[in-house]
Amino acid sequence: MIGEIYYSRKFLLHKPKNYHPENPGRLWIILTAIRELGLENQIVEPLPIDEAQIYKIHDPEYVKRIRGLSLNGGGYLDADTYVNQRTWEVAMLALGASRLATLSALEYGGLNMALVRPPGHHAGRRGRALGAPTLGFCIFNNSAMAALTCKEETGEALIIDFDAHHGNGTQEIFWNDPEVVHVDLHERDIYPGSGDVNEIGGYNARGSKINIPMPHYSDDGDYIYAWNEIVLPIVERVKPKVIIVSAGFDGFKGDGLTTLKLTEIFYSYAGVTLRKYPLVLILEGGYSSGLKRGFPAFIMGYEEDKIKRDEGQPSYETLKVVEEVKDILSPWWPL
Ligand SMILES: [Zn+2]
Repeated sequence: MIGEIYYSRKFLLHKPKNYHPENPGRLWIILTAIRELGLENQIVEPLPIDEAQIYKIHDPEYVKRIRGLSLNGGGYLDADTYVNQRTWEVAMLALGASRLATLSALEYGGLNMALVRPPGHHAGRRGRALGAPTLGFCIFNNSAMAALTCKEETGEALIIDFDAHHGNGTQEIFWNDPEVVHVDLHERDIYPGSGDVNEIGGYNARGSKINIPMPHYSDDGDYIYAWNEIVLPIVERVKPKVIIVSAGFDGFKGDGLTTLKLTEIFYSYAGVTLRKYPLVLILEGGYSSGLKRGFPAFIMGYEEDKIKRDEGQPSYETLKVVEEVKDILSPWWPL
């Protein structure tokens, strides 16, 4: 079942002056997919977040900086990340959409979505997180807002981040919080540089952060192996009321920013295997083929329960990293 889809035309107003991969055209691709799936009647206009909520995930100084830069006309925060005059308003609306999609998932179940820009998973409490060189196109952390909402309502949260890049901002925000389990699959040794297997959470939260740094050029066979061996057993063990999917589609073959070679097979498999849980999909990255083909494949997987089984075998490198993650996590998770 598809629940509520939070989207607003205002998400198009955060836009760059010159060419940038993170631009409003991304949401046109997403919207075309929603129409082709016949889901446009489920679109709901979100409301902005209450400002008090934002300080639970971001430092007031950082929030003030974004607001000031935006209301003064905008500019580049760093080499990758722009702010324009509407960014403040749009980013607050994206947080609101993420919160509302989570509440909807908790109340009604099904696959609920926050189809938002700017993306969020690289934004830490004070901006750049864990030594990252830039904010990686992100302003406020939408997935963290979803996790916070889930935690406030149920006492815990489970985030699965399959964006091709490590969700360093999300990890930093909940580093010391044992009630927020964050599983992150990403391409190793690319931006933002974090997400090593040994990053497992702060002293009282050890084992609650699970990183699976996938080899360059990983394909469906590699990702499905890691998904089956680590992600699904953790989901089964947590038995979450809702799963927050920090959903980036930039691992799709040819999407442009990474070497990963995923196809519809992985994304639909991910959807199929999560279909017994209520989901909140928070849009992160994905710039071309991933949005066009990976995004609808995930939705159709969740809806239709058709597993395509020609995924192929994992590489030796993938077998090694999966073994390493299982070994490191063995005191907390019987994988
Ligand atoms: Zn990404």
